[in-house]
Amino acid sequence: MSYISKVISGKCPNCGKEHIFHDKGNPITFKMPKMTKECGSCGYNFHRETGFYFGAMYMSYALTVAEMITVMVLRLILNYLFDLNITMLHAFIAIVFVIFIMWTFNYRLSRVMWLNLFYKKDEQ
Ligand SMILES: [Zn+2]
Repeated sequence: MSYISKVISGKCPNCGKEHIFHDKGNPITFKMPKMTKECGSCGYNFHRETGFYFGAMYMSYALTVAEMITVMVLRLILNYLFDLNITMLHAFIAIVFVIFIMWTFNYRLSRVMWLNLFYKKDEQ
């Protein structure tokens, strides 16, 4: 399995059978996603060490910036194609909405990306 397919599946980087998160969370009710402690199939420890997921914040930041840029590009495209007058204030409100809706997804994806980034086949 390649890095991208592992990240998209959200499953164990070692065996690819069990999901890393057993609860996806809910952005509306502010319910945090819940991570499984270790893989049920191969026993791979998802909580590698204290502070391991600190670096996942940088991944989350990059995802958030990418979403902001996407909204701004969409604003430009819509303004150009349909001759709309979408202002920066409208775009800012849209960005806040998108970030609010996507925060659990970003949280999960950044941690899965971080875990897969430092995965080595031999180590357990
Ligand atoms: Zn596993």
